Amino acid sequence: MSTDFTWHCNALKCRTVLQNRAVVTTCSHIFCLTCAETQGLASSNNGVRICPACNTQLVNQDDAIITQLDPSEDYKTSVLSGMHPSIIMECAGRGLAFYTYQVSNEITYQTYLAASLTDKYSQVNNQLDTIITQANGQIKKLQDALKGAS
Ligand SMILES: [Zn+2]
Ligand SMILES: [Zn+2]
Repeated sequence: MSTDFTWHCNALKCRTVLQNRAVVTTCSHIFCLTCAETQGLASSNNGVRICPACNTQLVNQDDAIITQLDPSEDYKTSVLSGMHPSIIMECAGRGLAFYTYQVSNEITYQTYLAASLTDKYSQVNNQLDTIITQANGQIKKLQDALKGAS
């Protein structure tokens, strides 16, 4: 299935593009399996887990679970089967809230990235201007010296 949104691991130093399996938290964060493993999110047997993105304490078993980002048709058929329509709608609503939160976070991140890139570009531009001015000054000096010598 094609999606218009790419999930990135929410660990800022990682930001791996997520495929297939990932760990999602009830505080609306998502992590690659490697980060989930190193941050101790994968299993709850070592006590309280802490979300690496927002420091929320994940006390309950289902506060961090492995999810399938590209579920099979069978899974889609069965995952909500047997639930009351009100619970189905609640699950759908929370899933959409998760999606919205992630998309808006990604926009914030990209905006920040663009701003800092623009900043770096103008810094480099200023440095180049200074170098060119200095070089021109030296060329002028050399030309004057040559004129004086002839
Ligand atoms: Zn990661
Ligand atoms: Zn979190």
